[in-house]
Amino acid sequence: MTKKTEKKAESKAKELQKQLFMKKKNSGLIMSDAEIKAADKFNEGYKKFLDEAKTEREAVKASVAILQKQGFSEYDKKKKYKAGDKVYMVNRGKALILAVIGKESIDKGVNILAAHIDSPRLDLKQNPLYEEAEMAYFKTHYYGGIKKYQWTAIPLSLHGVIVKNDGDVVEVNIGEDEKDPVFVVTDLLPHLAQEQMKRPAPKIITGEELNILIGSRPFKDDEASELVKLNIMNILFKKYGITEEDFISAELEVVPAFKAKDVGFDRSLVGAYGQDDRVCAYTAMMATIDIKGVPSRTVVTILTDKEETGSDGSTGLQSSYLEYFIYDLAESFGKNGRAVLSASKCLSADVNAGFDPTFGDVLEKKNSAYVGKGTVLTKFTGAGGKSGTNDSSAEFVGYVRKIFDENKIIWQTGELGKVDLGGGGTVAKYIANLDVDTIDLGVPVLSMHAPFEITSKADVYMTYKAFAAFIK
Ligand code: MN
Ligand code: MN
Repeated sequence: MTKKTEKKAESKAKELQKQLFMKKKNSGLIMSDAEIKAADKFNEGYKKFLDEAKTEREAVKASVAILQKQGFSEYDKKKKYKAGDKVYMVNRGKALILAVIGKESIDKGVNILAAHIDSPRLDLKQNPLYEEAEMAYFKTHYYGGIKKYQWTAIPLSLHGVIVKNDGDVVEVNIGEDEKDPVFVVTDLLPHLAQEQMKRPAPKIITGEELNILIGSRPFKDDEASELVKLNIMNILFKKYGITEEDFISAELEVVPAFKAKDVGFDRSLVGAYGQDDRVCAYTAMMATIDIKGVPSRTVVTILTDKEETGSDGSTGLQSSYLEYFIYDLAESFGKNGRAVLSASKCLSADVNAGFDPTFGDVLEKKNSAYVGKGTVLTKFTGAGGKSGTNDSSAEFVGYVRKIFDENKIIWQTGELGKVDLGGGGTVAKYIANLDVDTIDLGVPVLSMHAPFEITSKADVYMTYKAFAAFIK
């Protein structure tokens, strides 16, 4: 064999590889400069949303403000809607459905995008306030899957509502404004932490040690006890008109007080609290808002609550509120809600684990999502032998894949970690259980559920584009 033919054989192999092998390229190599610029611009809006929407209630509020500016009006189930109409419905202040009525008859099915707007955090207990060693504290009960040790010694803010005895609702948001005070869970100094450091990681800080320091100055009087607590209660009474008993009917959430930031010299990443899953909530909502003209199928985008605790409760997706909304909408067109659901298609929009080379051994490289390689399509979630999963059908994966390729979406597939190492779930199964073809799509995240989560701006943008392609 001459050298020349050898070279020819190699190029044939290369040619075949190009034709037959899977391509997974960094978005930075594929995206044009104009597209990178568009992605950066999109992420500015995203960061602003993150700062305004640190809780599910705030996410609903911030979203409704955006929707009203974009011509969406509050859904009225008695009203007759026509193609092009844009509506939204708020569920108990904590979840949101928006819809754009399509040209096709609704019983041909609707396109659903579903993301969640609750994130792991520390909730105040219903009797939270106490004083010890002349300092005042709040007791907390954490919400969702957190590594408890990550929540100590960082600035925290307080968000939520207090419902007073007379029914008045007081809104609380302290620690976000530059001039606001912040709060903190204290940790033990290393000098005295010998015994603490021998504890297993879930107990380095226990749930009952996640106490929030809220003050140390006593009320000026020698007569009573618990003067620091009294001083705090007095401040709260003057500011909000509340007494200690009002905490019983409050939902107060403690979250990191820092703002969304660009990460890296190249500013290619976003670092912020609560990107799981507000990254999908924002991209899904913006894709729905930005639909050009009237979509062929009706679009129903749902931003739900309670995903992080299993989707139970009236504002979680195990509740019937999505089903009821679709039934009501179908009825207003004289159609059958069941028929609508059975013909519907859904992208369940949630984040997936991005491959982290520092902890590479928990992820299987061939089936892992990579930061910067586009939006991630996840056929199944669950744990062990695919327990508790919507395992999307090959046909539906094929349908979605074709849309993405036709619309030049940069996308990848991913599985949440190695087979036997754990797992997780999303709302996909609850929507699929309504007889809706459903698959997970979202953004790969580093440090998921940590107070400061990391995403790639390119992936955020590609997820927005992927939603837009699916619903157009
Ligand atoms: Mn999530
Ligand atoms: Mn999560």
